[in-house]
Amino acid sequence: MVSIDVKIFRGEPGNQYWQTFRIPIEPGMNVISVLMQIQRNPVTIEGELTTPVAWESGCLEEVCGACAMLINGYPRQACTALIENLIQENGSTISLAPLTKFPLIRDLVVDRSLMFEHLKHVKAWVEVDGYYHAGSGPRLSQEKQEVSYRLSTCMSCGCCSEACPQVNSHSSFIGPAPIAQVRLFSIHPTARLLHADRVRALQEDGGVSQCGNAQNCVRVCPKNLPLADAIAAAGRDTTLQAWYDLFGLQERCL
Ligand code: SF4
Repeated sequence: MVSIDVKIFRGEPGNQYWQTFRIPIEPGMNVISVLMQIQRNPVTIEGELTTPVAWESGCLEEVCGACAMLINGYPRQACTALIENLIQENGSTISLAPLTKFPLIRDLVVDRSLMFEHLKHVKAWVEVDGYYHAGSGPRLSQEKQEVSYRLSTCMSCGCCSEACPQVNSHSSFIGPAPIAQVRLFSIHPTARLLHADRVRALQEDGGVSQCGNAQNCVRVCPKNLPLADAIAAAGRDTTLQAWYDLFGLQERCL
């Protein structure tokens, strides 16, 4: 049976170290199934019994975003990282490490709550004033539906922030994902009622002006979100909003 060596950067904040496990592989295995094998038999390549590796996963179909980690140094989802493909790309040694732009909890588990705090900051929701039937809303064109659908598939995995050079310990940049959600809700006719608030949030320190246009986010996003377009649209909206606010105008006046 073919085996692979899985190097895992594990430990707790201030005490991280590499450990290697040799795992026999079967067809169709992904990184999660490798981690489950290690969990069942946590013995290192040196034959030392150790503690099971901690990781997070949920849906196992690239929808929840929980299993984001660095696989061979690349931010992606462990559930869709098939071992056969990884061997073809990089040979029979696979490295796993936690994302670096989020606080480490343990082993491969990080605290991504900042992603959700940023969504709250930009009011990434559709405001409703009741739960009665209000009739059908305005229709969206096919073109807008297609853009909205792609933006709505964001799973807050954090891969875009991990790859973004502007997201670092010296910057308060909120990262590409919340900006893309502002774009999503600006297209939605009802959600647009809060458009000005959302755009003003992006005018603040850490907002869209801190994007350096590296576009790494576009390359790593597992959902292929149109992040560069969303960021460009948000930049334009912040400028327009500044004019509206300067002259005390409502968006509908222009
Ligand atoms: Fe993940 Fe893409 Fe959403 Fe960023 S934009 S959080 S990479 S799904």
